Amino acid sequence: MAILTINAGSSSVKFTLFPSDADTPRASGIVERIGLEGTRLKARRAGGEAVETPVPGADVDRAVEVILEALGHPQHGVIAGVGEIEAVGHRVVHGGERLTRPVVLDGAAKAYLESIVPLAPLHNPHHLRGIAACERHIPHAVQVAVFDTAFHASLPRHAFLYGIPLRFHAEDGVRRYGFHGISHKYVAGEAARFLGRPAEGLRLVTCHLGNGCSVTAVRGGRSLDTSMGFTPLEGLLMGTRSGDIDPAAVLYLMERHGFSPAAMNDLLNRRSGLLALAGVGSNDVRDILAAARNGSNQAELAVEMFCYRIRKTIGAYAAALGGLDAVVFTAGIGENAPEIRRRALADLGFLGILLDEALNESPAEGPRAVHAASSRVAVLVIPTNEELEIARETRQALAEQRRP
Ligand code: AMP
Repeated sequence: MAILTINAGSSSVKFTLFPSDADTPRASGIVERIGLEGTRLKARRAGGEAVETPVPGADVDRAVEVILEALGHPQHGVIAGVGEIEAVGHRVVHGGERLTRPVVLDGAAKAYLESIVPLAPLHNPHHLRGIAACERHIPHAVQVAVFDTAFHASLPRHAFLYGIPLRFHAEDGVRRYGFHGISHKYVAGEAARFLGRPAEGLRLVTCHLGNGCSVTAVRGGRSLDTSMGFTPLEGLLMGTRSGDIDPAAVLYLMERHGFSPAAMNDLLNRRSGLLALAGVGSNDVRDILAAARNGSNQAELAVEMFCYRIRKTIGAYAAALGGLDAVVFTAGIGENAPEIRRRALADLGFLGILLDEALNESPAEGPRAVHAASSRVAVLVIPTNEELEIARETRQALAEQRRP
């Protein structure tokens, strides 16, 4: 039997198929460019070559259908039929205040997800479409939702409330939710395993640095604070997002330039961050680092701003945790950019964080330590694996459902 993970986004549906009882995927892939020219399926079975198939005009429903056709293909497939799929684990960005652990999607859970679409208008509607498609094409399978917000449900009130009248939390749900929780939870678990220590008592700062960036303080395997807030805009500088900015500056710009809320939202989410600051016409950190090395002062400043925000958040979270055992780097930038790791940790020797330059620069893959032997705090690079975390949590939800 098998577990399928589905991540349905605005223009793509990503999938991975796991055996029900093991962590090694049997196949994975994506239907990309949904709603655009050139919609295609890219699929790969374990140990095989990637195969590309055009699926012109496919919507999310059709995308799920072609994924299932590929998985069950008589020559290239990995299952005899959809009957082998016993559960589908859906990545869902927002679970609101109520869905704080993986849930089997019944009518009530889906109605709640519909009701909180205004909290995640760019994500949850696509997830709901993915769920509906899987219910239609794999009706016998148990549908489970795994939430990016759920890991941060353990934030104490003093960390999740904003300094505005409490009724805006009670009536409008305005609070810090935090995101990237599936990734932060996965790497926190892997860090404990790598260090050979129980999660209990372990104080970690996990840095998810990818297209979006967030830092989380983790104590005893639970999220204590996190840099993203009501939306994924707060906190660190990101590829195209501003991160922290005084809300009064936002209001000032709106008034001065007559920006509508939608225009301001677009400016802060899609036209700010490294893209705006570096001046190289790209938000890819590889391009920005290359421009800085080639003498662009503007790109250099953008890199320093990016690293400085990470550095000061690590310091803040060391204080929130009352000490620090390890800093963990993950995602596209965290895993692959030694210069960013080095600069983010510069001058943190007073916290007991000392990098080993050679280990940090080494192009090794997989979970690894990059701190100096004399460092009091471990510095780890741990490739994230959100699909595996979703599959594990789906497996757990399935087991709980079946328990008498
Ligand atoms: P993710 O969201 O985890 O897929 O991360 C995507 C981001 O990782 C891209 O926008 C790149 O900026 C960054 N990235 C990927 N590889 C590298 C690399 N070798 N060096 C620097 N940044 C990288």
